[in-house]
Amino acid sequence: MFYVTRRTIEYRKSRKCNTLEDKLNFVLFESDTVLLMIGVLFLYHFFKYSKLLFILDSIGNILSIFYYKLIDDKKYHLYTTFALIQVIVFTSFATLILGWRTGFYYYIFLSFVAFFLPFYLKDEEVEKQISRIPIGVLLIILFFALYYLTNNVNLSFSVSVPRGVEDAFCYINFTVNAILIIAFAYFYSSLIILEKKELSSRADYDELTELYNRYVLNKNLEANIKLVDGKAKDAENFLVAMLDIDFFKKINDTYGHNAGDYVLKILAKKFKKFVKYGMLVGRWGGEEFLFMSTSMEKDVFEEKLNDLRKEVEKTNFKYNGKKIKVTVSIGIGKYISGMDPTDLVKAADDNLYKAKECGRNRVVS
Ligand code: GH3
Ligand code: MG
Ligand code: MG
Repeated sequence: MFYVTRRTIEYRKSRKCNTLEDKLNFVLFESDTVLLMIGVLFLYHFFKYSKLLFILDSIGNILSIFYYKLIDDKKYHLYTTFALIQVIVFTSFATLILGWRTGFYYYIFLSFVAFFLPFYLKDEEVEKQISRIPIGVLLIILFFALYYLTNNVNLSFSVSVPRGVEDAFCYINFTVNAILIIAFAYFYSSLIILEKKELSSRADYDELTELYNRYVLNKNLEANIKLVDGKAKDAENFLVAMLDIDFFKKINDTYGHNAGDYVLKILAKKFKKFVKYGMLVGRWGGEEFLFMSTSMEKDVFEEKLNDLRKEVEKTNFKYNGKKIKVTVSIGIGKYISGMDPTDLVKAADDNLYKAKECGRNRVVS
């Protein structure tokens, strides 16, 4: 008990709940603490009514120390397997000895949740564990067997417990199970929400540059075309610009692919800073980036992009001690009513081609 208390205090002090793994650790650690507390709370009454239950409960409480160790070592699968077997064995004995009304069978429901919401398993382990149905069937059979035996058979080892004590057991057992089932379900749903968020951010962003990817750019092209078509007056002002790094292949060939990746990342950071309210940027593909704006006159848009081009030219890119010279060419496309996203991007691409033809490191509109 002393060891567990000390470990609990130490653990609570040092625990951070930043990652999913930390949260999982927290949920299992706290559930085990709840079960241990109940185990200790019941010791006195078990001693009074059934020495067998007292011994089983004491063994369980001592085992809890090893369970904490398993949780600490992140051996969640092993922990839950052992803990569940212990809970099922113990509650079966307790139900048979102390009677149905004590509500120890509630722990069977907790076992269902723990077996069938196996949030503590890794994905590949969950796939392997998919055939847990037999365990479910066995637990259902166990429930009916306990019900039948306690209500219809005169068991020689069962003891009669005062009504008040029975009720107290029942209330406590129900409450503990409710709390743990809620905690497990809550954790499982927050896990799903987190994974969903991660998936949707992966679907929207380019991994290397952390800019919007082509999918998001296309969605925005479509949305903006709809928007400006609705207000004919602004249609003139939907502008896009395709930016392409000059001689990027040479950068890769001279300094290596990692240096190329580094240049892309630094540029992406610059682009993110550059786009203010009303502008958007994303990685169109490879070393090409698409900017769009619906809130600027063409001259202003061009001037701003030219400033960006100059800034890139002035920037010292340094990779592994080697200086890399980087310039970019930019082509601007203006939306004309009736264009589709492909037409608009092509208009920008045509101007980009002209910028390359005329010697690169320039903006053409
Ligand atoms: P230009 O001035 O005409 O645009 O010449 P360029 O060399 O930039 O154009 P080209 O299309 O010949 O080469 C583009 C290169 O970009 C080829 C490809 O290996 C490289 N590239 C595309 N995506 C990545 C990436 O994610 N990382 C790195 N390091 N290189 C990339
Ligand atoms: Mg290119
Ligand atoms: Mg290029």
